[in-house]
Amino acid sequence: MESPRVDAELLLAHVLAVPRARLLTLDDVPVDAATRFEELLAQRTDRVPLQHLTGRAAFRHLELAVGPGVFVPRPETELLVEWVLERLTGLDGPVVVDLGSGSGAIALSIAHEHPGARVTAVERDPGAIAWTRHNALSRIGAGDTPVGVVEGDMTDPALLGELDGRVDVVVSNPPYVPDGARVPREVAEHDPPLALWGGPDGLDVVRGMLGVAARLLRPGGWLGIEHADQQGTALPALVRAHGGYTDVEDHPDLAGRPRFTTARLG
Ligand code: GLN
Repeated sequence: MESPRVDAELLLAHVLAVPRARLLTLDDVPVDAATRFEELLAQRTDRVPLQHLTGRAAFRHLELAVGPGVFVPRPETELLVEWVLERLTGLDGPVVVDLGSGSGAIALSIAHEHPGARVTAVERDPGAIAWTRHNALSRIGAGDTPVGVVEGDMTDPALLGELDGRVDVVVSNPPYVPDGARVPREVAEHDPPLALWGGPDGLDVVRGMLGVAARLLRPGGWLGIEHADQQGTALPALVRAHGGYTDVEDHPDLAGRPRFTTARLG
């Protein structure tokens, strides 16, 4: 396991319903909690993602509900959201579209951190969109600006026709893993295939989406797309070759690996 101690502590804290730091001063674990803990440890050892066992995933300032059927949001995607928020600075009621929203991590973080943003979350996977809707509802309950959830495919030429030319930022963490690539069991067996696999070079979905994003964006609007470590040259080249975009740039994540490409509609 990558972080066995942290995972074990988080699972014990979860069964006891206490913050992890509270474990330091814990004297005793009731027998039923210990039994439950052992069950969860066994599942984690069998590579069930930690977040499926606790039912929660932390992302920026939010805690999202996750479980079977939805992609577990990753910390490296938090920087893409940071980039979007910078683009929105000073805009009143900006229009944002998140393509392939999954748990809603990107869309709901933007609505939370830029109050008044008009965010639409698009998801094609019927299993995943139940989680998008659930999380969107719970954020409304928490007082955030509501996010619209739309069932749709990011490569559909007719997607969100009513927003044509009106969107300030299109953002996406699309499926980009090249078919056949080796991924950890947590990913291969528990993240939904529609959220992962992107064809022979991993860029098929992005190829289909660049035209949709260009139609949605207003002139000068921004596009930000996450990609795999190995796509830091290929994806910017694809965006340049599309023709409609300017200011094409690639950005590293906190580990220094190429992580997302941005561009502006010319
Ligand atoms: N980064 C994800 C992983 O590590 C893949 C995400 C995606 O395809 N959007 O599995």
